[in-house]
Amino acid sequence: MSGRIGIGYDIHRLVEGRKLFLGGIEFPYGKGCLGHSDGDPVLHAVCDALLGALGLGDIGEHFPDTDPRYKGIPSSRLVGEVKLLLDKSGYAIDNMDIIVITEEPKIFPFKIEMKKKICFLLGIEESRLNIKAKTNEELDALGRREAVACWAGVSLSGRE
Ligand code: MG
Repeated sequence: MSGRIGIGYDIHRLVEGRKLFLGGIEFPYGKGCLGHSDGDPVLHAVCDALLGALGLGDIGEHFPDTDPRYKGIPSSRLVGEVKLLLDKSGYAIDNMDIIVITEEPKIFPFKIEMKKKICFLLGIEESRLNIKAKTNEELDALGRREAVACWAGVSLSGRE
């Protein structure tokens, strides 16, 4: 048995005329995240944490934003692809910890739904996932409500 860890980070600009998806949940908010896919920074950070732990590069290498196949794609499908790589590796998720950074919208009312969704996508029990929501204390682009960012950390264990 051996353990591995990975971290993921993502930030997306908030713009008019897009739906907002965070952790695979649609938030009722006037703006959404700009991106080639549905622009979900939470699921992108999740993918990058897992790819990092597996030593498999990053989300941009696996799903290039120049590839028309990924235009407008739900990020839940990208997590599904990364989950296949995880399953193939023989490693399993011990736990994952996520920090979502927004001034608006507030994450708290959707935290349970978001947790259920991410656990479903990763095939893990809810006790293995923690989600934290923070503001950026009104500082910088995040504080000016121009973007949403997310960090994810993951620990895996498995054969090797
Ligand atoms: Mg992204």
